[in-house]
Amino acid sequence: MPQPLWKVSEIFYSIQGEGKHTGMPAVFLRLAGCSMGCAWCDTKYALAGGKEMNNLEVLVELSKYPCKTVVVTGGEPTEQDLPALVSVLKSAGHIVHIETNGANDCDVSKADFVCVSPKKYVSENMLKKADVIKIVVNEKTDLEDLKKYYNYENEKTTVYLQPESNKEENITLCVKLVKEHPSARLSVQLHKLINIK
Ligand code: SF4
Repeated sequence: MPQPLWKVSEIFYSIQGEGKHTGMPAVFLRLAGCSMGCAWCDTKYALAGGKEMNNLEVLVELSKYPCKTVVVTGGEPTEQDLPALVSVLKSAGHIVHIETNGANDCDVSKADFVCVSPKKYVSENMLKKADVIKIVVNEKTDLEDLKKYYNYENEKTTVYLQPESNKEENITLCVKLVKEHPSARLSVQLHKLINIK
């Protein structure tokens, strides 16, 4: 059977800048391709194309870094065979975090951590599987509609509100929202504040 080929936008070692694991070193495996088409997408370079890499090539690249935590992101990782990729990474001893828009109901049971960041639409099943539901907030956010995500909060799942592009007005809004709903958390994009990738 031919080995799966992954479309990879980039692999790089950095610091997680968002959400629950902010400040934690991780290798980022950014898969290419996403059909969601968000106007303010900050990874437009990863929406199509990508370098084709097989399992071994991906694992060799990851092995260049002294960190076993791999954040599989995109693009949108569920637009490729994400369960198979997670199995490959877990078999090689990696701790696997997933960042997805949650539009596609996908088996993420083997991953160690799942962050769902809903955009234009999201699968309810994926919200139930999330460790973190991360909502990007800006002036166009429907603040009544946003409250529906609070229904998914439980011992496993936390809602994070993230100001779009770290804009001051969005930060002010998120601070207000978190203070109104104190089980939610603020996620400011640390990597952009300190100007790292
Ligand atoms: S879902 Fe994420 S990667 Fe896809 S277009 Fe929207 S912001 Fe970009």
